[in-house]
Amino acid sequence: MQKRKINKKKIVRFLSLLSLFIIFIAYMIFMAFKSDKNQTGKNTPGSTLTAQPAETPAETPTQTPIQTEEPIDTEDPDDEGSPAVEPTETSKPQDLIIRTDYEAFMPNEAGEIPIIMFHNFIEAYEEKTEKEFTTTFAEFEQLLETLYNEGYRLISMEEFIDCNISVPAGLKPMVFTFDDGSIGQFNLVEENGTLKVNPKSAAGVMIDFNKKHPEFGLKGIFYVNMDKGDKTFEGAGTLEERFEILLSLGFELGTHTWGHVDYSDAKNNSAERIQECLGKNQEKIEEILPGFRFYSLALPFGSLPQNKSLRPLLQDGSYNGNEYHHETIMAVGAEPSVPSVSVKYNSNYVRRIRAQGREPVVCDLTWWLPRMTSSRMFISDGDPSTIVVPEAKSAEINKEKLGDKLLITY
Ligand SMILES: [Zn+2]
Repeated sequence: MQKRKINKKKIVRFLSLLSLFIIFIAYMIFMAFKSDKNQTGKNTPGSTLTAQPAETPAETPTQTPIQTEEPIDTEDPDDEGSPAVEPTETSKPQDLIIRTDYEAFMPNEAGEIPIIMFHNFIEAYEEKTEKEFTTTFAEFEQLLETLYNEGYRLISMEEFIDCNISVPAGLKPMVFTFDDGSIGQFNLVEENGTLKVNPKSAAGVMIDFNKKHPEFGLKGIFYVNMDKGDKTFEGAGTLEERFEILLSLGFELGTHTWGHVDYSDAKNNSAERIQECLGKNQEKIEEILPGFRFYSLALPFGSLPQNKSLRPLLQDGSYNGNEYHHETIMAVGAEPSVPSVSVKYNSNYVRRIRAQGREPVVCDLTWWLPRMTSSRMFISDGDPSTIVVPEAKSAEINKEKLGDKLLITY
């Protein structure tokens, strides 16, 4: 009996200690999980997109912070739109910061958005390197730094199409496009049995830059020609693996026709030919990525069919019983684009600016940079659910394109 009694006491004491220990461990696990979750959220590209405010901001500024004039073309690279200003509403860091002190940072969401067109990337120029469409990785990295410092932030083609722009208040959206699916743009290398993005590729340079400046954005659309098959991007991995890794990083795929056709050429000027070149590209990518739909077309050479009545087929058509639809059709030159909510917007011929190649040319990005002044460019209000423009520019907004977005003038 005595023995049993002692045992019981011991067991009770042991159990109490054990339950205290379990509670302590559970608490530690909970805390560790919580901080890990916060960490991940911070580094997820595009996380601000999902962080839409539950309420649309009031039309009239509430508690407008006291603020002296703040230039948009700031010289300070670290100026994220205004450290001196207390935002009117804040949520967790990295979430959307909604500002309604418009007079202070002068948003203009009727302004232009530069859509940059890239082609080839190489390690170093050689004597025979073509001069206008090739960039070195080092120059590209330098360009990212320049664009970041000048207040540009990347948005995707999808965000451009929907004018769903959540770059921070006072900063400028920009779109990156890459034509032809060339190796220097993106390719995979195998390391210890796993596939990774080659750091010596434009996408690889962007991934590294994103580690330094995640708020710049890891976005861009790659326009591919499916007739190139395994030659698209080249390098390690199957075409499916290449596409899947590219998409998983947040990049997009667009169509550049089957065969890189020149639509200004008479032999391509028929309804059959246009639909074949676009439909085949759509059909082929669906074989590799079931259910995938191209929604943007980049015209090879920027050329349109001479026969104007055929042009609608660039946007909508069908081939082999399968329909295709392109929400934007991208040109080649040579100026920033109006936003999709502008009365001047033509989704069937959206202007792009070519990146500078080995040598500068008129109307390339280097030429445009000093000309893209804050008075002409799209300056974000930081809230994708509102379109904010100065009173004088409200007529430039196509009210029918607003959807459920709120137009605010000031
Ligand atoms: Zn091309």
